[in-house]
Amino acid sequence: MDVVTIFEKIIKKEIPAEIVFENHNVLAFKDISPQASTHVLFIHKEKSTNINEMIEKNPTQISDIFKAIKEFTELEGIDQHGFRVVTNCGARAGQSVFYTHFHLLSGESFGNFGRA
Ligand code: 5GP
Repeated sequence: MDVVTIFEKIIKKEIPAEIVFENHNVLAFKDISPQASTHVLFIHKEKSTNINEMIEKNPTQISDIFKAIKEFTELEGIDQHGFRVVTNCGARAGQSVFYTHFHLLSGESFGNFGRA
């Protein structure tokens, strides 16, 4: 059974979200529990559950997302400051909403990844 996620309800405007960017195929809104002073979630309006399914179903969606991120970061001047984009794939990687999304994080200095 296809489970309706919170992000589909945000797309349909059935539940509120602070939308910061929208075009015909991508929506971006502020994360309800921000982990940085800028923490925005980018989603494609056509559903997939995670990045691998997105690539499998329609690989052009990834460029739709990253073009939207480019446009948004340039409009907001975030590109000058630097930003990080993260997607979690699967519960063990920390995915809690099973609708593909990309976290845009900025405003802080982030460390490098990897085990200490
Ligand atoms: P994940 O853990 O799946 O990578 O990221 C899901 C993100 O969605 C989390 O950072 C969480 O704070 C955010 N989130 C969960 N429910 C809502 C909601 O109803 N509204 C908004 N704006 N963000 C949400």
